[in-house]
Amino acid sequence: MHTLQQQDPDIFSLIQQEEFRQKEKIRLIASENYVSKAVMEATGSVLTNKYSEGYPGKRYYEGQQFIDQIESLAIRRAKDLFGAEHINVQPYSGSPANLAVYLAFLNPGDTILGMALPHGGHLTHGAKVSISGKYFTAESYSLDEQTGLLNYDTIREKAMACRPKILIAGHSAYPRILDFLKFREIADACGALLMVDMAHFAGLVAGGAHPSPIPYADIVTTTTHKSLRGPRGAMIMCKEAHAAAIDKAVFPGLQGGPHNNTTAAIAVALKEASTDEFKNYAAQIVKNAKALADTLSQKGFNLVTGGTDNHLMLIDLTNKEITGKIAAKALDAAGIVLNYNAVPYDKRKPFDPSGIRLGTAAVTSRGFKEEQMVQIGLWIDAIISDPTNTVLQTETAAAVKQLCTQYPAPGLDHLM
Ligand code: PLP
Repeated sequence: MHTLQQQDPDIFSLIQQEEFRQKEKIRLIASENYVSKAVMEATGSVLTNKYSEGYPGKRYYEGQQFIDQIESLAIRRAKDLFGAEHINVQPYSGSPANLAVYLAFLNPGDTILGMALPHGGHLTHGAKVSISGKYFTAESYSLDEQTGLLNYDTIREKAMACRPKILIAGHSAYPRILDFLKFREIADACGALLMVDMAHFAGLVAGGAHPSPIPYADIVTTTTHKSLRGPRGAMIMCKEAHAAAIDKAVFPGLQGGPHNNTTAAIAVALKEASTDEFKNYAAQIVKNAKALADTLSQKGFNLVTGGTDNHLMLIDLTNKEITGKIAAKALDAAGIVLNYNAVPYDKRKPFDPSGIRLGTAAVTSRGFKEEQMVQIGLWIDAIISDPTNTVLQTETAAAVKQLCTQYPAPGLDHLM
């Protein structure tokens, strides 16, 4: 990045500082990861210079000899990996991917049914502040108050009562595996299309560590930058019968030219995700999440649903007499980065909620195993037990940095 350094030292310096932050801290934000050097190189390539409105073989600009091959390769690799009949790799990110699905199948005012935002659903699943809740009649299902688990009987009751056109399964903060067959049965019973948003757990599906929604869902959306470990982007997968509607909704319905640099980087990430190494990675993400969950449980933390079987966990800190925000800020000062998060039936406000969310996709990418998870759990406990102890935070940050030095994060060292 020498040219950038000379031409724009301000931005160069900020990127450099962000790189050091990513190197030296333990990143537990459940939606983040470290992409490989190869993914980074494709993302930063000359493909960013090219316009390619349309699809391979049907473009509105000339000069697509190589872009068509890149997009076709990305699609082929995604089909091989996930076994979907049709895949669109052009959505700019997860939110536009979900909107494209709504544009394909809904009219304004039609009903959608998804997991409530404060219970772990995503904004685009019908939250009132989102376009998905403003343009459509958004109904939601909640988690069971006692167990924190999805209750498929209540989802069914809700679906039969509101008769959504689209039933949405998927989440940003639910630590358990979804029962796609049950969702399919509910969708069939109420006459809805079933859309699964697997943004969070797509990498686990790719690596065989989580059941695949593809056989059950009419449409599956995913981001490419979370556990799948690709660039910031998204894909929509669907049955062939819906292919034309989805493609038309993405372009020209919602977007203009695809980000070809992202498409190439998605293709690279998909190649990486089809290896045995990635299968081991996906399995280790889950093992690491369980190890961290066990350690925290033993220290008296209240894990929503009692644990995890995917890459994330949600902790209700009410019994620790600390808010999510104070805990997250104290941990950040100690080199452990996560986010404060609402817990189901939270009595506090979303901007100052009772919980924290943790995920293991990024730390597993840098080679951490169960042993390091136990250590992280002990650090988290110590910091949260004494959140104003700045000396402890500084000491812990130094120990975190020391640990991180032993496990270099992929994709970073080539940059500076
Ligand atoms: N869907 C789910 C389940 C998510 O968790 C997210 C983001 O965190 C999105 C969609 C939106 O993705 P993006 O932030 O890329 O728009």
